[in-house]
Amino acid sequence: MESIPVIFLDRDGVINKPAKPHEYITTWPDFVMLPGVYEALRLFHGNGYKIFIVTNQRCIARGLASREEIDALHRIMTEDFASHDCFVDGIFICPHGDNDGCDCRKPKPGLLLQVQNHLEGSEGVTVDKSRSWMIGDSKTDEQAGINYGVNTVLIGGESSSVNDGMKHLAANDILDSARKILEGRN
Ligand SMILES: [Mg+2]
Ligand SMILES: [Zn+2]
Repeated sequence: MESIPVIFLDRDGVINKPAKPHEYITTWPDFVMLPGVYEALRLFHGNGYKIFIVTNQRCIARGLASREEIDALHRIMTEDFASHDCFVDGIFICPHGDNDGCDCRKPKPGLLLQVQNHLEGSEGVTVDKSRSWMIGDSKTDEQAGINYGVNTVLIGGESSSVNDGMKHLAANDILDSARKILEGRN
């Protein structure tokens, strides 16, 4: 099976301004796009990556938003991307809470595995882990990438030094991440 490079993106704090602690972004009026997102998405696609959002949305388990509301928000986000000549290849959500015992809530690697299964099942390609990256703004995202076995970029923090043969970088935002990833290719 052919292997392709994939960018896994956290949502809150990478694509949009994060909510205040213990609050959630569930509607478009509360969704504030961060600078550099459109350009970063175009850069990744222009360089042969597929892009998937992998996001924990515990607000669903807590009953603060329905799955339908979150899906509706993501449809508007997708339209907004399109109006700026960019897109993502898919959005994968963990709707569970801490005590649900699911295998997809980051730092578990389940959402990234779901993306891999989707690519293998629907496109007949798999993830080239050595050329793929998880980009997030929390240690939870970085750890999910490490647990799955890809390179990582931690936005706004200090990257971990893990001796797993992958790169673990830090960056200021998604566009800075894109530039660092593309610069470091060989
Ligand atoms: Mg985040
Ligand atoms: Zn889950």
